[in-house]
Parts: sequence; C-alpha cells; structure tokens
Amino acid sequence: MKNHWVTLLAGIILIVASAVMPLNAHAQSLSEQDKVSLEIPDGAKAGPGFDVEVATEAYINLLSEEDRARSDAYMEGGYWLQLWGFLYGLGVAWLLLAKGLSTRMRNLSERVGKWPWLHTFVYSAQYVVITSVLFFPLTIYQDFFREHSYNLATQTFGAWMGDEITGLLVGVLIGGVALTLIYGVIRKARDNWWVWGAGVSVLLLFFIMFISPVFISPLFNDYNVLEEGPLRSSIMSMARANDIPADNVYWFDASRQTTRISANVSGFLGTTRISLNDNLLYRTSAEEVEAVMGHEMGHYVLNNVTKLVINFGLVLAFGFAFVAWGFKRALARWGQNWGVRDVSDTAGLPLFAALLSIFFFAATPVTNGIIRVHEAEADNYGINVSGQADGFARVAMRLSEYRKISPGALERFIFYDHPSGRDRVHMSMLWKSEHQESEP
Ligand SMILES: [Zn+2]
Repeated sequence: MKNHWVTLLAGIILIVASAVMPLNAHAQSLSEQDKVSLEIPDGAKAGPGFDVEVATEAYINLLSEEDRARSDAYMEGGYWLQLWGFLYGLGVAWLLLAKGLSTRMRNLSERVGKWPWLHTFVYSAQYVVITSVLFFPLTIYQDFFREHSYNLATQTFGAWMGDEITGLLVGVLIGGVALTLIYGVIRKARDNWWVWGAGVSVLLLFFIMFISPVFISPLFNDYNVLEEGPLRSSIMSMARANDIPADNVYWFDASRQTTRISANVSGFLGTTRISLNDNLLYRTSAEEVEAVMGHEMGHYVLNNVTKLVINFGLVLAFGFAFVAWGFKRALARWGQNWGVRDVSDTAGLPLFAALLSIFFFAATPVTNGIIRVHEAEADNYGINVSGQADGFARVAMRLSEYRKISPGALERFIFYDHPSGRDRVHMSMLWKSEHQESEP
C-alpha cells in the first residue's frame, strides 16, 4: 500500500503490499515453528572468551556476499525511488494545476448539492482516483515488479491488483473525510488554519488508528488469535509480566502478499493489539519470535504509538505553516493562470500537496529520526523483557533480506527509521556480554 494517496494522506494527516499462498495456510498447526531451531554462530557462543566485537562479526558474516549485495541494492534503489517519487509527484501537481484539470474537478464538484463539505468530498474523491491513476506506472514498478524481482512478493498480478483497488476505495473514503475536515478548518480558522489543522489531524489520526485494526487491516489480511501451544504460553507470560492485556496477541497471513517477517502494534485505546505475521511464525525459531514480541510489547508499554502521533502532529504544524506561507506566494505568481482562488479553494489541493511534499522531503531525516528513537527504545525494552539476545541478533540478520546491514553514518541519519542490522546485533551482543553470569 504505497500508493500516492497514502503518501499524500501520510503527508496531510500522519506521514505516520507467482503464486498466492493457499488460503488454508492458517489451518496448519502453529507448532510447526518448533522445527526451526536457533543457530548461534561459533564466534557468538557464550563462554569465558566472549567478545562483543567478535560475536557481532560472527553474526554479520552469516550474510553471504551475494545476499549482502542484493539487500544493499534493494535499499539503495529505494533511496532513489524516494527522489523519483517526489519529483513525479511535483509533475502530477503541475499537470493538474497548469492544464486546468483541478479547476474543472472543482467546478464539477460545485454542481453537486449546495454544501461546501460535499464539494470538498466530491473533489477529494476525484483527486484520489486521478492521482492514483497518474501514479500507477510508478506504483506497479515499485510495489509489484520490483518486489517480485527481489523475491519479496508472493502475489499474482490479479491478487495484487485486487488489493490496490481495495486500497483505492479506502483512500477515497478516508482521504475524502480527512480533506473535508481539514478544508472545513481552513474555512473557519482563516489565517490560523495551520495550527488548528495540525490539531484536527492528530485527532483524525487517533481515530484512524482506532478503527484500523477492526475495519481496515482485515480488508487485506486474515487476523487470528494465536492458538494454544508453548509459544503462545511464553508470549502470554511475557505479556502478563508486563501488564499487557493477555488476549491481545494476534497473527495474520502476511505471506499472502510478502516473504518479509514482521510484527506490529496497531490500534488505539480499546482496539490496541500486538500482531505477528505468519512468516515470522513459520520461518524463525521460538527465541526469535520471543525477541520480536518483546520489542512489540516495548512499543505498547512505552506508548510509542501515542507519542509518535503527537510528535508528528508537531512536525505537521511546521509543515502546514510552510504550506500557508508558500501557498500565498505561489498563488500571487501563478494563481491567475491556475484559476485557484485561495487556500480554502479545493482546486488548490495539488499545490497544497506539492508544498507539503517539499516540506516532508526536506524533513526526511527528522521524521525518520523520530521513528528511529522510538524503535531503539523498543529494542532496549524488548531485550530486557525477553532476554533473547541471540534471538534478537538472528532476527536482525533475517531483516537484512530487505534492509542494508551496515549503512554509513550519514546514510543512517537520513534514511533509517530503525536501528541498522549491525547496530541491533551489536546491542544484543553487548547485552549478552553483560548477562553472562545468568546463562546456564
Ligand atoms: Zn518497532
């Protein structure tokens, strides 16, 4: 789900998808994960001569030259795609404004009913559909062909397209509601709209977080409560020990779309839940699953989701202030040609989106840094709770399938929204070194 509308929506309210896996995959016994056992490389085994740096290298060396070159290329290509996507977006905005498409969409929307909120919603729906169509060549390359060429995708074209259409419909609905609210704020608050707009966006994001696990995620994947077994028992025990509602551990069929292993915390208040994906369950050892669950529990206990939303609300206030400033200037210069009246005119949405994308493109190190700090916190929490230093190091190495293992300092600063694989292995081995006595 990396459509333009998601990018736009992310920009506006948060910043914050061969053969299809058989649908009866989840009927398999979850105890199958017992077949995978944790492998600890020789240089990382506990003992009197344990050395953090040697142990770290032992894990890093698990990655073959070939696999390393592959994940480096995947990640570095992703950096360029961020630039191409940004420039492509500016081109789409220019096309909509300069060719008069946006004013035609607005004029059409104003013929439907007499309420301004309805005009905004109708314009927004057209905007989401048209930008998604214009972005489709980039979307299909980035999210379908490229993912398949790196063996990260599992879907047939038809199944992938089905998810895209579902995503588009969700985008029309949520994008429409979000933009209707934000334009309502712009009309009411006038010059101070950027402050109120950021506040309303935070509330909107909390609402989307609240409904997402119940109404949005199930549109793309099946979610199930983790079945009885040794793994469930150990996860439930960790959860109870950390005051986490014990029925909130779910798993989902991510293998429908991807080979990536992952887990997440989603929801807000009554809908908050920790979910792990089936790739994690089937492809990794119990120690690795525990290490990952410890990390996710860290997000939960440390209220990382709430903190992130509030942090992004602040960044967004700056972003909206930049839009408010830039919009007036751009309008003074080109407004006449574009037929855009003022910032409250929906015909100016492509300009609004372009300015916001410039802000967030420039703020990439800031937004990634905010997320990375919270991820590092959850890493620390997780390893202390699970005690699975080798499990966590092994998982960090598995993530190198799609994340460059050892980025340079500047590269990490700009592009990394998680600690790098090397940093995570090193942190785990440091923890292991300091906990040697407690090992059997
Ligand atoms: Zn995390």
